[in-house]
Amino acid sequence: MAQPTAAESGGWMPRETWDAPVRGESCPLCAELAWGVQANAYFYKVADLRLSELRLAANQNVPGYCVLVCKRHVREPYELSPDERGLFFEDMMATGLALERVFQPIKMNFELLGNIVPHLHCHVNPRYYGDPWPDSPVRPGVQPVYLTPSEYRERAARIRTALR
Ligand SMILES: [Zn+2]
Repeated sequence: MAQPTAAESGGWMPRETWDAPVRGESCPLCAELAWGVQANAYFYKVADLRLSELRLAANQNVPGYCVLVCKRHVREPYELSPDERGLFFEDMMATGLALERVFQPIKMNFELLGNIVPHLHCHVNPRYYGDPWPDSPVRPGVQPVYLTPSEYRERAARIRTALR
């Protein structure tokens, strides 16, 4: 069967490119967890939580933007066992609370998307009064902000302290 055209796929990646990581093959998040990556172009590791790894996103266009990566490869949270669901949700709550303490936003957004990397992860975005997206999720691609290595270290340390 012929591959769908870009128009037919609606802009989604080729189907096989999607299906492999859903099966856990060639999953970039599994590879980073297995290799113990502490930082790369996308994140700076903050801490190991109960069932996830907390990462400060390299793009800090929203101060405190973090990504929580589940340590188990599942596509959806309902594929976790009931106990694991509880642990992952507690990790989300601990993250939100720590970010609230450090950054004092007016709202916290928890986004479980995974349409590009189908490995359970949660974008945790503090929201600030006057930010440019009052009626929508944060758009991370708009005006990305990158910090110096020492600024990432300092921001991660403050979050780590607030997690205790
Ligand atoms: Zn994975």
